[in-house]
Amino acid sequence: MARGLLITVSGASGTGKGAVCGRLLETTPELTYSISATTRTPRGGEVDGREYFFFDREHFREKIERGEFLEYADVFGNYYGTLRSYVDGQRDAGRDVLLEIDIQGALQVKAACPEGIFIFLLPPSLEELKRRIIGRGTESEESLARRLSAAPSEIDVGRRYDYAVVNDTIDRAVERIKAIIVAEHCRVERSAELFDALKI
Ligand code: 5GP
Repeated sequence: MARGLLITVSGASGTGKGAVCGRLLETTPELTYSISATTRTPRGGEVDGREYFFFDREHFREKIERGEFLEYADVFGNYYGTLRSYVDGQRDAGRDVLLEIDIQGALQVKAACPEGIFIFLLPPSLEELKRRIIGRGTESEESLARRLSAAPSEIDVGRRYDYAVVNDTIDRAVERIKAIIVAEHCRVERSAELFDALKI
């Protein structure tokens, strides 16, 4: 059985990766979401082992020291990390795994897992990104200003990824990501068994 793909989707804050990944997962049953670990407290309705594995800081640090994370990052004062065992288990069972992680985490995964597929979500324009961040209505003036001034340098990091997908509408962004996944499965280096099966 072929090993599943590791697919990472990230992008500048406010680009809409949560919504895009949510729709992608809803419409792609064969794709498995990589459940991250975090030290932040669960929000209402979140269940341990479904949205995240919720660890205290000490437990998280022990796992860092034991090298159990494929990547981890401090995002807004809390640790977030991808468990190596979870991702490897899914991929070994032949399932494609989707990592929805921040930019710093994705670059660590790229270094550790060069065979992964790295997709960067772009806003259609900086004006639209600003409208989306303001529209969320969750940001203070100060945090809004910080996010907006960080956007150009965050977006520039996308040049180091494999694919750039514009999130103009969620449906179109999801269609593009699905096309990437199909194309990656068709790569010759992943199709040895198709050639083998045709040998008489
Ligand atoms: P939230 O607390 O809103 O669920 O997530 C905050 C941020 O952490 C988001 O940008 C999310 O993509 C990022 N994040 C979630 N899981 C991981 C992870 O495993 N690793 C890294 N590096 N970032 C993560």
